[in-house]
Amino acid sequence: MDWSVVYDGFDPERERLRESLCTVGNGYFATRGSAPEASADAVHYPGTYAAGCYNALTDTVAGREVVNESVVNLPDWLSTGLRIGEGPWFDAGMAEITRYRQTLDLRRGILVRDLSFRDEQGRSTRLVQRRFAHMEYEHVGGLQTTIQPEDWSGNLTVRSVLDGDTANAGVERYRDLSGKHLRVERAELLGDDTALVETETVQSQLRIAQAIRTRVVSRGHPQPCTYRPVVEGPCVGHELVVPVEAGRAVTVEKIATLFTGHDRAIKEPASAATGWLDRLNGFDALLTRHVRAWRHLWDRCRVDLGDAEAATVLRLHTFHLLQTASPNTLGLDAGVPARGLHGEAYRGHVFWDELFVLPALTTRLPHVARSLLGYRHRRLQAARWAARGAGARGAMYPWQSGADGTETSQTMHLNPASGRWLPDATHLQRHVGLAVAYNVWQYYQATGDREFLVERGAEMFLEIARFWGSLAHYDHVLDRYAIRGVVGPDEFHTRYPGANEPGIDNNAYTNVMAAWVLERARALLRVLPTTRRTELSEAFGLTAEETDRWEHIVRRLFVPFHEDGVISQFEGYDRLEELDWAGLRARHGDIRRLDRILEAEGDDVNRYKASKQADVLMLFYLLSAEELHGLMRRLSYDWDPASIPRTIEYYLARTSHGSTLSAVVHASVLARAHRGEALRYFLEALRSDVADVQGGTTAEGVHLAAMAGSLDVLQRCFAGVETRGDALHLDPYWPTELGSLELAMGYREHALSVEISGDHVVVRASPGEHAPIRVRCRGESAVLEPGGRIEFPGGSGRRADAER
Ligand code: BGC
Repeated sequence: MDWSVVYDGFDPERERLRESLCTVGNGYFATRGSAPEASADAVHYPGTYAAGCYNALTDTVAGREVVNESVVNLPDWLSTGLRIGEGPWFDAGMAEITRYRQTLDLRRGILVRDLSFRDEQGRSTRLVQRRFAHMEYEHVGGLQTTIQPEDWSGNLTVRSVLDGDTANAGVERYRDLSGKHLRVERAELLGDDTALVETETVQSQLRIAQAIRTRVVSRGHPQPCTYRPVVEGPCVGHELVVPVEAGRAVTVEKIATLFTGHDRAIKEPASAATGWLDRLNGFDALLTRHVRAWRHLWDRCRVDLGDAEAATVLRLHTFHLLQTASPNTLGLDAGVPARGLHGEAYRGHVFWDELFVLPALTTRLPHVARSLLGYRHRRLQAARWAARGAGARGAMYPWQSGADGTETSQTMHLNPASGRWLPDATHLQRHVGLAVAYNVWQYYQATGDREFLVERGAEMFLEIARFWGSLAHYDHVLDRYAIRGVVGPDEFHTRYPGANEPGIDNNAYTNVMAAWVLERARALLRVLPTTRRTELSEAFGLTAEETDRWEHIVRRLFVPFHEDGVISQFEGYDRLEELDWAGLRARHGDIRRLDRILEAEGDDVNRYKASKQADVLMLFYLLSAEELHGLMRRLSYDWDPASIPRTIEYYLARTSHGSTLSAVVHASVLARAHRGEALRYFLEALRSDVADVQGGTTAEGVHLAAMAGSLDVLQRCFAGVETRGDALHLDPYWPTELGSLELAMGYREHALSVEISGDHVVVRASPGEHAPIRVRCRGESAVLEPGGRIEFPGGSGRRADAER
C-alpha cells in the first residue's frame, strides 16, 4: 500500500498546486509546501496560517465600502536560502537541476525535497530538505536541510530567516483588495542562533510571536560555524557560513515556534515562543515524537483499499483533513475552514462544508468533531442577534463565518471572466443552520454523547428550529407555510429572472430540512432531562404554543413539485428556461462555472434550469428514502420514493458541477441504484484536488469537504456504515472495482476494524472494558463484544457469526 505522493521534476506551472497539496499542518497551524528559498512571486506562494486567526480589512469597491475578514498569512518561518562561496543564491527556477523529487510522506507527516543541481562553475550539489508541522507539539515546525557538495570544497552560506514582510496575496481575484493584515511589532535576534518576530493583526489585535533557531548539526549535536546576523527590517535571522568538503554532507536544522494571544497556558506569546525554543531538542528527536503522533492518528483513521491508486488519494484526503482538524484543534476556537489551512481562497471562512467533513471525523476522532461543534456553540449568541436583525427569532447562522460568527460573506464578487464586480447574494443561504443542527444530531447518534447533546447541542438545535419556525409564514393562497427569500445550496439561483430583490421562495431542500429540524426539535425536547428542558424553555421563553406551531408547520410546510412528481428545486423553477448545454459545452469546453460564462456574455444563469451543484439531491444525501418518505407523509404529501431515480436523472442533466461538493453528493445518491455511475463520481471526487479539476483553485487551498466527503462516500454509501437507532449498520453496496476495503473507525468507545470484500463483511473490535454494541447488516443483527469479531458472509449463506 502506498503512503507517498511523489512529484518528479520542478514544474513552475504547477508549483502552487503542489504547494497546496504538500502543505504540512497539525490542526493548529499549517505551512504550504513552498520551496524554502522562495518568496512570493509568480511561481511560489509561501503561506503559514493558524487556525482561527482572522483579521478584517476595509476597501472601496465599485464605489462601495467592503469589509473582508481573512485568515492571516503569518511571517514565513521556512525561508532558507543557500549559496556556494560568493555565487548566486540557489533558485530552483534558475539553477541547472539534474534531479528533483518531492515526496509527501503521508504516514509520517513529512515533506521531503531531494534534488541535485550544478552551478555556473560546474559544481554539483545535492540538497535534501525535510519538514514537519509537529503533530504532538502543535506550536513547533521543523526544517532540516542537508547539503552535500559532490565535487567541490569551500564555503557554504545558509541564510535562515523569519520573514515578517508577508501579506495575503495568494488569490488572484482578491489582488485589488488590501492584504496587509499584520503590523510588525518586534523583529530581533536573541542569542547566537535565535530570532524572534512579533506581529499584531491590525484590526483584531491578535498578538503573534514566532521564533526560529538555526544550527549546524552532526549526529544531532551542534557544530561550530560562523553566524552573520541578518536584520533587514521585519526579516531577521542569520547567515551561517559553513566550510564544507566534497563528499561530506552538512546538516542545518531550523526549529520554529509559533504562539498567539489565543493560546492558553502561556504568559504571552513572545516568552512562550522563545521559552519553548530554548527547551526543544533537535530535529531528529522531535521527528521521532512527531512520527509517533501520526502513527497514533493513522491507527484510528486507517483506510486500506485494493485499488492502490484510490487508496493513496484517500490517504492524502485523510491526511489533509487531519492537518486541518486534529486533536490539536481541541481547545482552539476553530471551525472547519472550507479550504483547509492550505491557502487563502474563501478567506479561510467556515461554510456549511462541515456537513461533509464531520461524518469522517465523528467516526474516527469524535472529540475533534465535538470541538468543531463548539465553534458553532460559541457563536450562538451572534446567530441569535443575526436572526433578530432579519426580523426572525431563534438563531440564524451566517453563510460564511470567521472570528465572531457574524456574516463574513462578501457583498461583491469579481467575475474573472468579465472583470466585473457584482453584488453577491449567496449569504441568503440560510440552510447553513440546518447543517449545524443535522451535525449536532449525527454527532449524538454516532457517539451517544448525551452530555454534549443536553448541555450544548440541544441549545443550538432548538434555537435553529425556532428560527425556521419563525421564518415560515402561512400563505393563504398556497394554504401552506412558505419560506421566502432564501438561496439554496445551488448558488446559481440567487433571484428570480429580472427581480429587483435577491432570494428565491420555497427551496425544497431548505423546506424539507427545516421540517426535519422542527420535527426533531420536538422529539429532542421530550428526551431532555426535565431540569434541562425547564432551563432551556425558561431561557428561551419557549412555550407550548410555539412548539405546537412547529408541529403544524411540519404538517403544512410547502414543498414544490413538478407535474410528474419530481421535487422542484424551488417555487417557480419549472417556469425557467432550458439551457443549451451542448451548445455551451461546444463553445466553452469546461462549463462548470457557467454562471460566470453567462454573465460575461451578458446573460444571467438565473434564467435557466441549471444548477451549480446538488440541491434537491442533497435530500437523498442526508436522509434515507424511508426517512424522507415518512417526513413527506407528515408534510401531507403523497410522495413516492420510486420517483427518486427520475429525480436524480432530472437534476443530473441540469447540473454543471461548479463545486467540488457536487461529485461527492452525486456519488452518494447514485450508490444504491447506479453503482457504476456512483463510482465515476467517486473517482471524480478523488480527482478534485490531486488533478485540480477546477483548473487553478486547488493552488489557493484544498477543498476539504470534497476530501472528507470522499471518505464519507466510501464509508457511508459504498460500505453502508451508518450509526443510527443505537446500532452500527452495515449495508454495503460495494463497487468490487475498488478491491477489498479495510478501515479503522470508532463507535461508542470501540476501536473497530471493518473489512468489506464484495458483500462479505467482517467487523472486529479491540479489547477493552466498554459495553458491547449492536451491529446490523442486511436485516441481521449481532452483538459485538470488546475483543470480538462478527462476520456477515453475504451471498446466499447469510449468517452472523460473532465470536470472542
Ligand atoms: C459551494 C458551497 C461551498 C463553498 C465552500 C462553493 O463553491 O457552492 O456549497 O460551501 O464553495 O466550499
